[in-house]
Amino acid sequence: MAKYVYFFGGGHADGNESMKELLGGKGANLAEMAGHKELKLPVPPGFTITTEVCNYYYAHGRKYPDELKEDVNKSVKRIEELMARKFGDPVNPLLVSVRSGARKSMPGMMETVLNVGLTEKTIPGLIRQSSNERFVYDSYRRLIMMYSDVVMEKAAGIEPEDNMGIRKQLERIMDELKKKKGCKTDVDLTADDLKELCKLFKAKVKQVLKKDFPDSPEEQLWGGIGAVFASWMGKRAVSYRRIEKIPEEWGTAVTVQSMVFGNMGNDCATGVAFSRNPGNGENRFYGEYLVNAQGEDVVAGIRTPAPINEDSKSEHNKELISLEKWHPELYKELFEYKNRLEKHYKDMQDIEFTIEKGKLYMLQCRIGKRNGTAAVKMAVDMVNEKLISKEDAVLRVAPVQLDELLHPVIDPKLELSAAVLAKGLPAGPGGATGQIVFTANDSVEWKKQGKKTILVREETSPEDVEGMRASEAILTARGGMTSHAALVARGWGKCCIVGCGAIHVNYSKKEMKIGDKIFKEGDWITLNGTKGNVYEGKLTMMDAGSENKLLNDFLKMCDSIRKLGVMTNADTPDDAKKARQFGAEGIGLFRTEHMFYGKNSEEPLFRLRKMIISKTEDERKKALAELAPYVKKDIKATIDAMDGLPVVIRLLDPPLHEFVPKEKDKLQHLAKELKISMEELEKRAEALHESNPMMGHRGVRLGVTYPDVTEMQVRAIFEAAAELLKDGKKPYPEIMIPVVCDVAELKHQFEIIKRVYAEVLKKYQIKEIKHMLGTMIEIPRAALLADKLAEVSEFFSFGTNDLTQMTFGFSRDDIGGFLPDYLNKGMLADDPFQTIDQSGVGELMKFAIERGRKTRKDLEVGICGEHGGEARSVEFCHKVGMNYVSCSPFRVPIARLAAAQVVVKEKK
Ligand code: PEP
Ligand code: MG
Repeated sequence: MAKYVYFFGGGHADGNESMKELLGGKGANLAEMAGHKELKLPVPPGFTITTEVCNYYYAHGRKYPDELKEDVNKSVKRIEELMARKFGDPVNPLLVSVRSGARKSMPGMMETVLNVGLTEKTIPGLIRQSSNERFVYDSYRRLIMMYSDVVMEKAAGIEPEDNMGIRKQLERIMDELKKKKGCKTDVDLTADDLKELCKLFKAKVKQVLKKDFPDSPEEQLWGGIGAVFASWMGKRAVSYRRIEKIPEEWGTAVTVQSMVFGNMGNDCATGVAFSRNPGNGENRFYGEYLVNAQGEDVVAGIRTPAPINEDSKSEHNKELISLEKWHPELYKELFEYKNRLEKHYKDMQDIEFTIEKGKLYMLQCRIGKRNGTAAVKMAVDMVNEKLISKEDAVLRVAPVQLDELLHPVIDPKLELSAAVLAKGLPAGPGGATGQIVFTANDSVEWKKQGKKTILVREETSPEDVEGMRASEAILTARGGMTSHAALVARGWGKCCIVGCGAIHVNYSKKEMKIGDKIFKEGDWITLNGTKGNVYEGKLTMMDAGSENKLLNDFLKMCDSIRKLGVMTNADTPDDAKKARQFGAEGIGLFRTEHMFYGKNSEEPLFRLRKMIISKTEDERKKALAELAPYVKKDIKATIDAMDGLPVVIRLLDPPLHEFVPKEKDKLQHLAKELKISMEELEKRAEALHESNPMMGHRGVRLGVTYPDVTEMQVRAIFEAAAELLKDGKKPYPEIMIPVVCDVAELKHQFEIIKRVYAEVLKKYQIKEIKHMLGTMIEIPRAALLADKLAEVSEFFSFGTNDLTQMTFGFSRDDIGGFLPDYLNKGMLADDPFQTIDQSGVGELMKFAIERGRKTRKDLEVGICGEHGGEARSVEFCHKVGMNYVSCSPFRVPIARLAAAQVVVKEKK
């Protein structure tokens, strides 16, 4: 018979940390903390109902397995024994919390109900027990608020009118009462005030939801359990799962746990802490706590929490007394527990704790979320501390987190002269600029219109998650480093500032005030999420530098593990230099045509145009002779910048008509130079027009039609190399032919190349220039005939942009019109132009590699399509036995990491 309920407490646990799939992250970690012999921490006893029950519940029309009731009752009994209290007992009542817990943490996405078991009958008992009437009614009003919202409204599927859910209505009643009694905060309400409030609450619940608030502990317990399961399919959870790609069948577990109270008086508190700083990775204990409060108060960001120690102090909480000063002995105990936990889990821990009447309880621990900077620092530090191995360290940083490290920052010069409008807590690093929006919906809508937004809120709630995702950055007035906004943003590596007390948001007017200044929806602001600074207007962003010692140390660890080479796609000496700083081991794709675009391209472009428009052989030869020095100079500078590393130079690829000018004056200049009339020029340009240029006169086909174009390029390459050799350099060009579909094309081109090579050797009086000749694989036919191509080709480089285009028959320039539909309808899991389609394109690649290597054992194989810098594709390239990947300079670090991760994963 399946075991549906796992108990923990009293130094024992049925489950452990490895059972996350069954118990959820929270349940598994509670079991570990409570039961593992190295830990045995003071965890209030409880039990976890497994994720299998969640799946059963949905598969059986929201019904539980028959035996669940009895299992739950038995476990409640065990809690009662350990706590020496009884659930529903009028004298000595036990209260429990009911919490959700999926395999992976989904901050704030699902439901929690606290103080379950408080009823008219048990209230007097708890008052006697705690000698604190105020606390009991405060707990009761919280139960009514949470329960009516979570169980009676959301789980029951009731859609409130005008967005005025029961919780908001109850909050309004509470605010009115506070106003009436002249109270500033919740803490100022007296026991009698709260008693009155509970009455008002219950009446409101009855009026709005047409049901009495349940006064039976069992009904409350089962209501809570059902609501947690129901929340798995709640709107927020579903949308978060979609973004995070969490499968629906994982389900959530439910943990029922004995309540301990951080709100029983001024000798009680609750807090959240990280064993290391999640914002910068420093190995310093970091956390916040609130006296006389329940856990939800810290995360909700309603009151500013106090720091647990000196290291946790900030602008906003520096006046508040730290836990270390308030109760040094409890701080010491907590510090010891965090050490034990970190040593045990060998990773940074995110801890929740409660102090009830001077006793410390551990309520939760989990691997803490961190941003990219912190992830890299912790990984490197933990290796140095001998806590983890290099292999473990490599898995600690997600490839997207590196992206975040290399993310834009505000141009430092501009930032220096910009006035800081307001300061908040630096919850998510990097810089961002955008137009202000005040609602999550607006953020989503504006993004659709291609606008960049910054979502400004008093505080965020889980309902805002889609909008947070759509914005460039998030700015909130309230909350600490552990508030919802901070947690979510950190998980995504998004720029975020929280607790920015200087901003005052007026949602109805869609504006915010900072001092005397008013900012309206659509106004531009800029955030520095690393410092917590808010600036007026639009400041320019800059790429982050590559001079990051920690990152370099980390990437060197990756290099010592990975097998796959990492090259770069670079078309200019500047790009080549940058890529080398990022660790590229050569250029895997130098697109020759790029010298005809952008900076300094006027001169060579004009000569290329002359060549294109030429009609006679004479005309063309003359134009080519003029063009050659430019090509040679460019190639030489790039090979030189790579200083002995290989440079794969691809011969001219795009259809020639792309280069024909459109402007009249340029056409006239060309006609004059060629000594032909405008009519003649237009006729020649017209003749170059193609209906489907992507499959037209491009790639190797140009070299077949115009062998002297190939000849000019190849001579430029070899002469550049020869001159470098003479200068004592170590040039290593590899010549690559694009858009090949048959070996005959290669043979034709290689013959020219070999002849020119011999001529250059002779001209420069040298014996040899180290080089290789190869082909791109971009057409399915080339993949199928790989064995033949390998007869002459020394290397293959997969051009997966074209290979994807031609395998799917999806034009790479026109996918915008239909690909989103395929993705939204779930017909394709990923954009195949971003991540290699392993089942189609990937199969062709595998086939080509196998066939190619059958003919030529040492065939070198790489990839130079955009996929070469995408983590999952890099893993695939390793698995199919490629020698290297090549990607844009900024993605080189990601490829180095992904290539190392796949090696470690394979070993595990
Ligand atoms: C490719 O097709 O993948 C490739 C690298 O070439 P291009 O993008 O220049 O067509
Ligand atoms: Mg291509």
